[in-house]
Amino acid sequence: MKIPKTKIGKLELYGVKYKGKWNMFLNTDLVSRQNITVKDIDLLKKIHVERLKLFDKMSKEKDVEKLRNQAKELEKIEFRLQKAWKFEEDSRYHSWWRMAPQCKCPQMDNEDRIGTKDRVHSSECPIHGKKAEGKVVKKGSK
Ligand SMILES: [Zn+2]
Repeated sequence: MKIPKTKIGKLELYGVKYKGKWNMFLNTDLVSRQNITVKDIDLLKKIHVERLKLFDKMSKEKDVEKLRNQAKELEKIEFRLQKAWKFEEDSRYHSWWRMAPQCKCPQMDNEDRIGTKDRVHSSECPIHGKKAEGKVVKKGSK
């Protein structure tokens, strides 16, 4: 379907607004390549707002276990994004997990591995690392 160009500006159409500010824009090449409709765009934007809310929560989280549960929520969001983009749901192509607040895994190394099964995890990462497993890092505690 053709995206109407007249009545609505590109910013309004593709921009994701969060807390009153433009936070990001949907990939317009992908919109045309995947035959994304205006309705799909609304859904994608809605899911991204959920992701941004989750990121806010994760950035403030001190409890490792809760943080890891939030990371699981993020994975569900990634699947929903794939579906809304009309892609196969495939965790090998997930890309937001490495942007998660407090994730200490090497972003570039993982970017290179998108589309493969491999993920490079830092042992120091509270979300994906082994060291933090079972730990609760509350503020003020050791
Ligand atoms: Zn990590």
